[in-house]
Amino acid sequence: MPPLVAGIHASGSLARLISRRPLGQRRRSPLLSRAMDQTVEKPARATPMMAQYVEIKTANPDSLLFYRMGDFYELFFDDAQIAARALGIMLTKRGKHLGEDIPMCGVPVERADEYLQKLIALGHRVAVCEQMEDPAEAKKRGAKSVVRRDVVRLVTPGTITEETLLDPARANAFAAVARVRREDGGFVYGVASVDISTGAFLVCARDDAATLATELARLEPREIIAGEALCRDAKLAEIFAARGAPVTPLGREAGEGASAERRLLDFFGVATLGGFGALTPAEIAAAATAILYVERTQKGKRPALSRPVSLRESQTLDIDAATRANLELTRTLGGAREGSLLSAIDRTVTPAGARLLAERVSAPLTDPGAIARRLDAVAHFTADAAAREGARARLGRAPDMARALSRLALQRGGPRDLDAIRAGLAAARDIAGFLSQRKPAPEETAADLAVLAAADRELQTAIETRLAKDLPLDKRAGGFIAPGVDAVLDEARQLRDDSRQVIAGLQTRYAELLDVRQIKIKHNNFLGYFLEVAQAQGERLLKPPLNETFTHRQTMADAMRFSTRELVELEAKIASAAETVLARELAIFDELAAAVLARTEELRRLADSFARLDVVAALAELADARGWTRPNIDASLDFTIRGGRHPVVEAALAAQGKVFAANDCDLGGETGGAIAVVTGPNMAGKSTFLRQNALIAILAQAGSFVPAAEAQIGVVDRLFSRVGASDDLARGRSTFMVEMVETAAILNCAGPRSLVILDEIGRGTATFDGLSIAWATIEHLHEVNRSRALFATHFHELTQLAKRLPRLVNLTMKVADHAGEVIFLHEVIKGAADRSYGVHVAELAGLPQSVVARAHAILAELEAADRRAPVETLIDDLPLFAHVAPAAPAKDPLREALASIDPDALTPREALAALYSLKEKA
Ligand code: ATP
Repeated sequence: MPPLVAGIHASGSLARLISRRPLGQRRRSPLLSRAMDQTVEKPARATPMMAQYVEIKTANPDSLLFYRMGDFYELFFDDAQIAARALGIMLTKRGKHLGEDIPMCGVPVERADEYLQKLIALGHRVAVCEQMEDPAEAKKRGAKSVVRRDVVRLVTPGTITEETLLDPARANAFAAVARVRREDGGFVYGVASVDISTGAFLVCARDDAATLATELARLEPREIIAGEALCRDAKLAEIFAARGAPVTPLGREAGEGASAERRLLDFFGVATLGGFGALTPAEIAAAATAILYVERTQKGKRPALSRPVSLRESQTLDIDAATRANLELTRTLGGAREGSLLSAIDRTVTPAGARLLAERVSAPLTDPGAIARRLDAVAHFTADAAAREGARARLGRAPDMARALSRLALQRGGPRDLDAIRAGLAAARDIAGFLSQRKPAPEETAADLAVLAAADRELQTAIETRLAKDLPLDKRAGGFIAPGVDAVLDEARQLRDDSRQVIAGLQTRYAELLDVRQIKIKHNNFLGYFLEVAQAQGERLLKPPLNETFTHRQTMADAMRFSTRELVELEAKIASAAETVLARELAIFDELAAAVLARTEELRRLADSFARLDVVAALAELADARGWTRPNIDASLDFTIRGGRHPVVEAALAAQGKVFAANDCDLGGETGGAIAVVTGPNMAGKSTFLRQNALIAILAQAGSFVPAAEAQIGVVDRLFSRVGASDDLARGRSTFMVEMVETAAILNCAGPRSLVILDEIGRGTATFDGLSIAWATIEHLHEVNRSRALFATHFHELTQLAKRLPRLVNLTMKVADHAGEVIFLHEVIKGAADRSYGVHVAELAGLPQSVVARAHAILAELEAADRRAPVETLIDDLPLFAHVAPAAPAKDPLREALASIDPDALTPREALAALYSLKEKA
């Protein structure tokens, strides 16, 4: 790779740290390259401002540079071209550099958020470069000196905090991935997920690339951060790319071992890691990488992150990326929230509640005790509708405290953030007071209510008595401190306002003096206060005696502008009073913010309790409205659902005034591991049936009531689903290849506690190939995986397997067939279908009559031929899978150790050590 910064010494450490790998389009134009070279080598040839620009841009090569110039952020060179195209703004030029035009575009500072939002949504990063001194200061150093500027923040998709840039209902975390060596020579991955907008900080360790992929799919990060070596690893690069989030490589600095630990201790200002729980080395490395990225992007500002919480793999239901996508848990396959499970069940009334619900749906639990505690809380609110309604009405008044707190910590907060904390504290005691009058709450809710009841009244009063009624978004706009709070402030305000009165009086006085009515005192940044008169009148003021009082400043097309001594004096008075006003207001703001931040931990606990209450009350509301019931979750291998429904399809049908046919499903039994083979016509509801059972398991383990009359579920540890066919051509996989890769993952990983949903395996290839694969798959599931499984298929031959496999049951979809007219009843019954009515569905879909008639004729021929070689004979001829298939290879430690070695990441010494360790295993 050619050196990125040719001929220039990068001033900031960021240039070394943030890799040269492009995020989006990051090819530097020849003009900028030459500008960089020339600026350093022949400084005299570049204007001082351009030299400064180039130096700052060089230190931030992967970000669009917002270069502050007065009231605008300007972009130059390539950045200007990228931004102009992305934002639909005018591309202009600003002077020449080295004989060529410099492309330029700009965005006004007060609308910067809006433009940032668009750029971030497109996956860009933006370095915000501010003027660090008053231009007047710079002038004192000499006519040619430029205003000191510096990058104060990198705005990236995973580190935003502004309300305007964030989706209220969605977490906004970035994931930092690290890899450390295990004692046995293999690798383990650490993942840290940090949401700067709320302070949430989770870490976990995963043993291999596949489980790392699962974890990243669960976290849905907005940005992925990893060391350069990891980003270069082809397998990991593919896993990162599959998440569709921008990947930001970091240099080696993130560190492992002692330096990573040091970084954590320094950030949290503690002496030992004791308070972090027992973090593993991989978790520490990932957490340190995350902190490094926070520091680099926030430029010295310290977000209020909570201490990293370790999430053990066994605590949550494992749902791989394909299953998650297929079941459309938080988003549909098309990427929309609308139509997903989450949107169908979300009745939360606060943004933090919506985010927590998404988290719970994404990571259902596996501990029956913990699930029961959540269900108790929901049950409490289903049993008491008045408590629920009262709590929800009050919760709706609780603002997004977590995000307000984060903005205050990063010194990006405004008066409305302070007010959010005040409103939160008030709502907390209100809710606690209200609910304490109702029936005693179960464990989890009681704990939350205790937190709410203890909300700090003193802090609330401190904010309440100081803030004005109408609050601006930006603290620099001023006017947010109430009158009577601070004597100095009141006095300065009085002075400022009185002076404005004096100006109004002056205008009348000048009008009388000059005997002209058309006279106005105006203000602009360049002239300050000035008198504007029509051109003809202006001529009089240029002559004695009036020119003694009026000093000419500017001549416009049809007007003239003058200043007077009185105006200049007033200007100075007003300016200094306004300055005092703002300074006082900001000082009081800072005091209040400091008081809030001193209680960060307490306020965060409060925000968490709000979110939990909102989620359980919302789930209770949902259960009540839709007639859902409490599932019974235990450590058995049961899976018995009576009257189950699909939560999304049912809601969609209800909207059309149609009724969903409820269905039972039983995969338990004494030995567990039953497989139901579901056959039936196209469009009869097989896929819906399969998915609804998977969704019921997810909802139940997330702690929700379920759309069923009764549900008895032995806790599921891993959920697998292979539903429908989709190409992944971008990654070079055909439909059939995707299907087989996903099936392979299931057969290799599913166990007795897993739930497996397989829809139409083997359909993407020739009939006999497909049938054979489906056949062998069922046998493997039955004999080796022994998972609870649902298997929908149009290969009716497979129903014969029930004769050989004791835990296999055949289910079919009931249809009524009246004189050739087929009616789908969507009812699942015991038994096997003998036909798919595919031609019938094709006819319904509008295939030309001639094609339909011809298809009927061909079908009749094929069926006649098939009857001559019935499958029943085959089932008798073929020995059972387990007797012929080679046994699955036992775990081979040598092979595993070999696979975990990454030769490129080893030093010669480590390579030798690895070789010795391999020899030991042989
Ligand atoms: P194919 O074999 O063609 O994939 P399928 O048997 O998997 O079809 P589904 O896709 O599950 O059929 O269902 C088809 C449609 O039938 C659904 O979109 C839904 O509108 C309706 N449907 C499915 N199940 C039910 C039900 N239990 N009650 C009412 N309507 C249902």
